[in-house]
Amino acid sequence: SANRKFHPEDSVIDVLGAKCGGGHFAVIAGPCSVETPEQIREVAEGVKAAGATMLRGGAFKPRTSPYDFQGMKAEGIELLLEAKKATGLPIVTEIMNANHLPLFEDVDVIQVGARNMQNFEMLKELGRTKKTILLKRGLANTLKELLMSAEYIMAGGNENIILCERGIRTFETYTRNTLDLSAVPVLHSLTHLPVVIDPSHATGHANLVKPMALAATACGADGLMIEVHNNPAKALCDGPQSLTPAQFKDVMDQVRKIREVI
Ligand code: PEP
Ligand code: MN
Repeated sequence: SANRKFHPEDSVIDVLGAKCGGGHFAVIAGPCSVETPEQIREVAEGVKAAGATMLRGGAFKPRTSPYDFQGMKAEGIELLLEAKKATGLPIVTEIMNANHLPLFEDVDVIQVGARNMQNFEMLKELGRTKKTILLKRGLANTLKELLMSAEYIMAGGNENIILCERGIRTFETYTRNTLDLSAVPVLHSLTHLPVVIDPSHATGHANLVKPMALAATACGADGLMIEVHNNPAKALCDGPQSLTPAQFKDVMDQVRKIREVI
């Protein structure tokens, strides 16, 4: 169970040596979508140099419009695997359909996106694997519902789960979503599973990513997920919230300073 009552110690999730939880901080960085071999390779090298511990990149994209770029699919996963070979960074990518699981054989962390947090049949399938699952909170889901979704995965025997708060729907429209930062201490009180914050999707604006990343670090998050693109203005998805590798390095340098004092 995800419940801390039955498991008082923090869980430490170890992804090829990149640890998350129990004092270990994970930084998952990379583009919203894998777009070209050059793009993912360049971003992977940039985020690795800045101190990221895992590389993210969407291959199957849950886009609001069916006419928007849907991702490179299997080819995108191949390019992530090449970037992993070049940098040594474990890779994180989203699954949209359990039938695609064979394509994820060499993926290190499978992301369940906000829109699929309550796709219970897919959660059951993921519970039958041994893959680490990055479970994102749904756009309008409570923390208890997030924990119940984690239970669906754990009930099948897979306890390798990282929870992710990525902002929720509120009446505010200035930001893409509203970051619920209190999710960090609340989840820490309820569960032993690690909690990471995604300030990119939570805010939707590149200039808000740094302050929210620092606040998340200060309040005890077990890691961050940050979108980074080598040319945000030309990104096929989520450019306005994407940092350049140089901006990401600046965030990392300050995150490290906060980690030293908390
Ligand atoms: C993503 O990580 O690119 C993504 C689609 O996130 P979310 O499911 O949180 O919207
Ligand atoms: Mn995105």
